[in-house]
Amino acid sequence: MIFRLLTIFPEFFRGPFEHGVVARAAQSSLLRIEIHNLRDWTYDFHQSVDDRPFGGGEGMVLKPQPVFEAVESIFPQRDPRKQRVVLLSAQGPLFNQRTARRLLEFEELLLICGRYEGVDERVSQHLADEEISIGDYVLSGGELAAAVVVDSVARLIPGVLGNPDSSIQESFSDLGQETGTSGILDCPHYTRPAVFRGWSVPEVLLGGNHAEIRKWRRQAALEKTRRLRPELLPNAPIGLEKIGLEKKG
Ligand code: SAM
Repeated sequence: MIFRLLTIFPEFFRGPFEHGVVARAAQSSLLRIEIHNLRDWTYDFHQSVDDRPFGGGEGMVLKPQPVFEAVESIFPQRDPRKQRVVLLSAQGPLFNQRTARRLLEFEELLLICGRYEGVDERVSQHLADEEISIGDYVLSGGELAAAVVVDSVARLIPGVLGNPDSSIQESFSDLGQETGTSGILDCPHYTRPAVFRGWSVPEVLLGGNHAEIRKWRRQAALEKTRRLRPELLPNAPIGLEKIGLEKKG
């Protein structure tokens, strides 16, 4: 899969993609990351990408021209089944694991990183396939949000995680597929020592009975979800009786 980032701060991505899982995957050609400098599609001396907002008001707005030309030259024959253009925006639908799985279906993902007051609305209306927000808060730019999207999609690519089960047994990976929710949280994890400052690891995890451990992990994951993110278990049709929890309310 190829991830393309369109940004006015190409250096921003040096850190996030030079470490850990994504960096290893890029080295082993499981994915490719291409950074595109939006200023390469400007023609004036100052390479300006922004302008004042019509109607007045604070701040500057990213102009449509460099963004349109960038996308059109990166994808001269854009195939909507293989290439997806995403505008990072605080106003988009919220990104979650389900979105990450959906984006995995594309061969190339081009992420447009906004700055300033945002991007001329015509980019959202006539260029991007979709807008994505990573949460209900405002960041200074789309780069951090794009890094989040790349990281979470990349780790779903087969072969990227050393242990393929890791992405099956983690938060948001299972129940949601059957219930239409985002999935439940991961179970709690523990490592040595078995007793730390007087707090013990649950006995069952020390016993080596794998069936019991699986059962405990499932229950613990559900219990943690109910405690921390109850909205993830609203009308879970499969399952609340199957898994021994009553339906709420
Ligand atoms: N005026 C905009 C608003 O109130 O919605 C905020 C613009 S923000 C300062 C600049 C850029 O950061 C946006 O164009 C977008 O690309 C990015 N951004 C900010 N918050 C974001 C979020 N929650 N998710 C994704 N991108 C975000």
